[in-house]
Amino acid sequence: MQTICPHCHSSRVTKNINVDSTFSIIEQLCSSTTLSGLGASVCRYYKVNPAIGIIAGSAIASTISLARDKLQPPLLVVATKPSYLCNTCLKIFTI
Ligand SMILES: [Zn+2]
Repeated sequence: MQTICPHCHSSRVTKNINVDSTFSIIEQLCSSTTLSGLGASVCRYYKVNPAIGIIAGSAIASTISLARDKLQPPLLVVATKPSYLCNTCLKIFTI
């Protein structure tokens, strides 16, 4: 299926970076499970009680999730609308 630019009707259109997958990677990186695990392995490396790492990781994760909640509305709008770039008129549009 060919995407056509609504401005100049050119078919030379490239889909922009898939925000959806970028978003889920950020989601994955910021999850408390990932950060707790990361904290625990850092502590194992430095020979510190892994429980401290899990607590620290969870604290970082909750800080990030608080920050992410504030950022979520614009991110969700972008994520639901994949954008396209027209190579002829260089305009970005969504379908
Ligand atoms: Zn165009």
